[in-house]
Amino acid sequence: MNAITCKFGGSSLADADCIRRAEQIIRANPERRFIVPSAPGKRFPEDKKVTDLLLAWHSLLLQDLDASQPAEIIRARFSELAEGLGVSFDIGTQLDKIAQEAKQHTEPDYMASRGEYLNGCLIAELLGADFADPANFIKFDYEGNLDPASYELLGARLQGEGLFVVPGFYGTLPSGKVKTFSRGGSDITGAIVARASNSSLYENWTDVSGFRMADPTIVPEAKRIAEVTYAELRELSYMGAKVLHDEAIFPVAEPGIPIHICNTHAPDEDGTMIVPTRTPTYPVVGIAGLKGFTMINIEKALMNRERGFGRRVLSVLEEHGVSFEHMPTGIDTISLIIKDDELDDHGQSILKGIERACDPDRATLVPGLALIATVGQAMNHHIGVAGHLCMALADSGVNLRVINQGSSEMNIIVGVESDDLDKAVKAIYDAFEVWV
Ligand code: ASP
Repeated sequence: MNAITCKFGGSSLADADCIRRAEQIIRANPERRFIVPSAPGKRFPEDKKVTDLLLAWHSLLLQDLDASQPAEIIRARFSELAEGLGVSFDIGTQLDKIAQEAKQHTEPDYMASRGEYLNGCLIAELLGADFADPANFIKFDYEGNLDPASYELLGARLQGEGLFVVPGFYGTLPSGKVKTFSRGGSDITGAIVARASNSSLYENWTDVSGFRMADPTIVPEAKRIAEVTYAELRELSYMGAKVLHDEAIFPVAEPGIPIHICNTHAPDEDGTMIVPTRTPTYPVVGIAGLKGFTMINIEKALMNRERGFGRRVLSVLEEHGVSFEHMPTGIDTISLIIKDDELDDHGQSILKGIERACDPDRATLVPGLALIATVGQAMNHHIGVAGHLCMALADSGVNLRVINQGSSEMNIIVGVESDDLDKAVKAIYDAFEVWV
């Protein structure tokens, strides 16, 4: 029989009613056998996610401050869940143990992971499922990269009949210490479980019916994306399309397991299928944009004749431990586009380094940039896509600061002033929506 891995996001497990709904979904199809829960998320907009409460708790503990407030809220939330679901879950003892353990960890990972752990214990009990703690099967190397041996380890643990619950978001380092993925990382666990268990489908259950062609807070009428490839999706989620963690495709891409984004509140809606390949009929599948970039502009006459110029520029970045996103070039100019949180406060020191290493005519920092990715594999060899995009921006009065198209021709990146982001996304959406 085919098996399905189901990952449920925090908003789909926020209270007892949500968890009951998830249980109904799981029980509705006997192929749904591998369940990956997140920690309980927000029940209403002003609510706190359990992971954020755990992080607050940890930071107070480390500073020897009174941590009773977050600890009490967490205790109340899990007690309410256990009571609402009728499971005999001793949250008091569990939390006392966590508080003791957490003192030995200066890194927040152990504490942050406990939301998934506790929710996993609770849901396993509710479902009568086998609980597999990822601490024993999902392994990282010392650089924090996933050890591919995890697939076999976990695969062996997931043999047998019935339901399995594997909490999302964490694994362990070679030292045995718990390590989490970056925020939203239960999506990655779901993909690892899908691969390790040989599932034929990875269902990612969340609170929206899939991806939309553009951020619906900017373009409320944005159409749903019915089908998108792993590669297209990665470009969109990296650039801010929030539904799925941008690294979640890697574990499933090699075996080619499709990901289905489904809505727990509307389980019969179609959602979005993320597939290895598709036959596209129109050039643009989606548009995503993100603020928070700085550009370093370097000018030097005849730099194209100077051997090693580019290498010297990049070594300055390397010395500062800073990586870049894009590097558009002209004959006498190089620009480097860097995420603000990556650049941190190294900007001036990098400029000085470039002045020393490259002796440019001018080197300047230009902050306040937003990038927008217009993505679609069918734009390859489709004449006029970039022209159409630029006209749309010009017509809406947006100044185009920078433009970049990778050799795969699957993605056109434009840089605009941060304040123009929404206007630009709307203009690009309107320009391409009519082609769909
Ligand atoms: N609970 C974690 C977070 O809030 C991980 C996840 O939900 O995927 O980021």
